[in-house]
Amino acid sequence: MVFESLSEKLQNALGKLKGKGKLSEKDVDIAMREVRLALLEADVNFKVVKDFIKKVKERAIGAEVMESLTPGQHVIKIVNEELTKLMGEKESKLNFSSSPPTVILMCGLQGAGKTTTSGKLASNLKKQNKRPLLVACDVYRPAAIKQLEVVGERVNVPVFSMGDKHDPVDIAKAAMEHGKKNGNDVIIIDTAGRLHIDEDLMTEIKNIHEAVKPNEVLLVVDAMTGQDAVNVADSFNERLGITGVILTKLDGDARGGAALSIRTVTNKPIKFVGMGEKLDQLEPFYPDRMASRILG
Ligand code: GDP
Repeated sequence: MVFESLSEKLQNALGKLKGKGKLSEKDVDIAMREVRLALLEADVNFKVVKDFIKKVKERAIGAEVMESLTPGQHVIKIVNEELTKLMGEKESKLNFSSSPPTVILMCGLQGAGKTTTSGKLASNLKKQNKRPLLVACDVYRPAAIKQLEVVGERVNVPVFSMGDKHDPVDIAKAAMEHGKKNGNDVIIIDTAGRLHIDEDLMTEIKNIHEAVKPNEVLLVVDAMTGQDAVNVADSFNERLGITGVILTKLDGDARGGAALSIRTVTNKPIKFVGMGEKLDQLEPFYPDRMASRILG
């Protein structure tokens, strides 16, 4: 189960409060110490944890307790609300352009799941009666172009490519023309992956960005890499100005550190989560549902 380990620890820490008719400040302190540890063990960003605990404590100690809840349930409710806030409060939908095509620039490190996710997104949009076009701008790995073509075929979405002999900016521009001519209302550009943040490739994405003026710049990051994912998101956001994050491989993430930190650290929403390798396993991200799922 997603976030299994975090979920278990939080439920353990808070479970002790549940039955209590009255809560002393010390009870809250002890529980919060355990919550803090559980979050740190889940690889949540240190500062995020600190602020979170501070907010929960302030609210738990100062608040009027509602009659319908025991004091323990009241603290759990506060934790639930603050966890939801950490993850962005509400679902954040894609911004579609009022004058199509909507352009989505996909970026991220190699292996994060960028190509797979481009295909998933195209499939998702197709189900909403959009006419997406996938664009292969990764000219450094010929296998990447082939991979996108295979993915496109599987979800029945056209793939625009010009092989690996052209400049990615020219490919992106040509794809825009092609998409407009063919009535594609969403253009999803798959850019070159990288092993780590690399100046040349970053400049290249910036140039593509400049040429196509995307409505969305979506960073694909692997949830299982925890704080590394958060640092990557922070860097891409600083250099490129991302509009949102897609967190992949959440299906294998028992800890949850990336999901719980990225929004607060970057101030950019998680728009979708990848829940498996299959091309229909992309889901919108609902912070409230995720918080409730974690707390059981
Ligand atoms: P790219 O290098 O960023 O384009 O990454 P790929 O799209 O090639 O994906 C790398 C690997 O991650 C592949 O084996 C994918 O099947 C796998 N993958 C991508 N997204 C998910 C996901 O949400 N869950 C799981 N379990 N695997 C995923």
